[in-house]
Amino acid sequence: EMQTHWYLTEKEEVKAILPRRPKFAHKGNFGHDLLIAGSFGRMGAAVLAARACLKTGAGLLTVQLPNKTCHVMHCSVPEAMVSIDRSDIMFTEFPPLDPFKAVGVGPAIGCKPNCVRAFSDLLDNIGERSLVVDADAITILASEQSLLSKLPKNTVLTPHPGEFRRLVGDWNDDFHRLEKAVEFSATHKVVLVLKGAYTAVISPDGSCYFNPTGNPGMATAGSGDVLTGIILSLLGQGIAALDAARAGAYIHGLAGDMAMEEEGEAALTASDIIRYLGKAISSIQ
Ligand code: AMP
Ligand code: MG
Repeated sequence: EMQTHWYLTEKEEVKAILPRRPKFAHKGNFGHDLLIAGSFGRMGAAVLAARACLKTGAGLLTVQLPNKTCHVMHCSVPEAMVSIDRSDIMFTEFPPLDPFKAVGVGPAIGCKPNCVRAFSDLLDNIGERSLVVDADAITILASEQSLLSKLPKNTVLTPHPGEFRRLVGDWNDDFHRLEKAVEFSATHKVVLVLKGAYTAVISPDGSCYFNPTGNPGMATAGSGDVLTGIILSLLGQGIAALDAARAGAYIHGLAGDMAMEEEGEAALTASDIIRYLGKAISSIQ
């Protein structure tokens, strides 16, 4: 039987993971990421994830968007490029993947048959690229479990408790939940981020890293979409799945803690977390 090892992610480890920006760097050095998020009437998730991705240091970001929703991204995040879907309202296709180092998929894409088909197609073409799978894309994986075998080696899954339950069924207590997570991660060879207080990052070899940063003010709409953008950005900067997940959770929580100092817990919003990403990252480096 596999042994589980327990760790706490520390600031010095995150510092060692985060990339430094060389004097002669250009935007091509920090990855071109593809984000697949949002649908007609559900564009907040896409905007938050895109902003968080750029604020974490991505060189270039392209967002795959339904035709009718592009203006939302252009107005909210002018730094992001868009790839326009033939569908007016949802994710049904994606651009050629050649330019992209990392792909993020899921927030608010919906779970319609067209999206399932496009997601399956994406997995058939993903190759060696890194991938972060969140939200509706996790729900798709839960209902189409045959897709799990198509996930690339460098994959991070970021379920909240409801999404994780869809994936593996119910648990009796927190320890049982962790056991299920360790088993799932080993079986499918993916890094799992079990979100919540003390987010647990689990690697296929049975290691579990608890995240010490964050506060209950972060239990708020869009908070998880911010984390997805952060992890996508780190993957695109060449950081491997386990390190990207650990550093991503740490930075997300630290930015949330800094925002909380200013705003208090009740008023804290996902946009506040994004606003403090710069300070959080600088304080680590
Ligand atoms: P989501 O439900 O997808 O929006 O994700 C929620 C995000 O907020 C995750 O990154 C969680 O780790 C974080 N979060 C939620 N509740 C708490 C909490 N009580 N303490 C720390 N972080 C939390
Ligand atoms: Mg979420």
